[in-house]
Amino acid sequence: MAVCTGCSLLCEDIELALMTGAISKVKNLCRKGHGHFQSFSSDRTSPKINSQEVSLDQAIKKAAKILVEAKHPLLYGWSNSTLEAQRIGIDLAKKLGATIDDTSSFCQGLLMELVLAGRLPTCTLDDVRNFADTSVFWGADPSNSHPRHLSRFAYYPRGSKRQKSYEEERTCIVVDVRKSATAKLCSNYFKVPPGGDADFIASVIAVIEGKIPKFGDKKRMIELGTVLRKTEYGVIFPGVGLVYSLQGKIELLETLVSKLNEVTVIKVVPMVGHYNMRGFNQLLLDDTGFINGVSFKDGQAKHGPENSVIAAAKSCDAALVIGSDPLSSLPFGTAKSLANAPLIAIDPRRSLTTDAARVVIPSAMYGLEAGGSAIRMDGVRVEFEPILEADLLSDEQILARIMEEI
Ligand code: SF4
Repeated sequence: MAVCTGCSLLCEDIELALMTGAISKVKNLCRKGHGHFQSFSSDRTSPKINSQEVSLDQAIKKAAKILVEAKHPLLYGWSNSTLEAQRIGIDLAKKLGATIDDTSSFCQGLLMELVLAGRLPTCTLDDVRNFADTSVFWGADPSNSHPRHLSRFAYYPRGSKRQKSYEEERTCIVVDVRKSATAKLCSNYFKVPPGGDADFIASVIAVIEGKIPKFGDKKRMIELGTVLRKTEYGVIFPGVGLVYSLQGKIELLETLVSKLNEVTVIKVVPMVGHYNMRGFNQLLLDDTGFINGVSFKDGQAKHGPENSVIAAAKSCDAALVIGSDPLSSLPFGTAKSLANAPLIAIDPRRSLTTDAARVVIPSAMYGLEAGGSAIRMDGVRVEFEPILEADLLSDEQILARIMEEI
């Protein structure tokens, strides 16, 4: 049995057989997971310095040299690495006096901070399967981002208190700017204009307080308020669509959840994308009191916007990127700054970032060629073993080697 690291559901029931570099038999793997596992056989990286093939030892030594010589190194990525690798990464940042940040500072970090601080009530996905009668996907499209979410937890399965499941006992609501694939599956779709989520929340709060909503189709808003009021155990799954739309007004979600909890039970589980983003946030929080964007310059952990990847990329004089492709995913200015710094990329597969990196260090694919542990989107720890033998070091082993060199 394998664990899929294709998204933060970390499905643990994957059965698969591999033959001559391809998946020959598979059970329980969704199409996204299939692509994830299948990718082990294509576009793999090899150790390189300045685009020239070198030995792994040479690449690791060069990476250590670049980091030691830098005055303002940045260590970025981490959401696709295990807890064990992340632990060494944080220690490496301390040793170097570096800035460390992960992908959450550009997506779900704000929500995760509220959840980890206990300001948003949360639950496990097993609670969702067993107890939830209402699931609200808000700015999230799990049919594409987390394809087994509805079938394993939120809508289709029978749970201990939800034996009649989606046929009679579960309601799925989608709030989104477009009729997404998930919205087409669920009967309750509420369209919100881009950037209109704050007004939408204000209207839901008005309905719960028995007032007339000022925004949107009043009849439909009252319908939504009625469903939520009648809910026994509801869960909001916010996606990046909601985070980006609320832009500095994230406390509105807190207010809504608090109002709803005066009349029913409502939990929040952020739709984290990368398989171990939550793990990094939790580890860094336990160590420093901050979930992301921390500088260890002068031996002290400091957090602030200047330590997020967006700002730190501009001032860094070396960057180590692990399991991430910021040159494709971050804004152009940030990507350009990173590309101009001496860049070290640790990744199992080729990407724009590895192609632009001064040093490339190939790594094993977690879940397939390397084991470890990670934190699922709902905070549950998942352990996994490799299912393939590979002559490759894991992120954890590579980082330990870099530490030794420094
Ligand atoms: S839902 Fe996510 S973890 Fe589960 S099989 Fe699909 S990609 Fe993998």
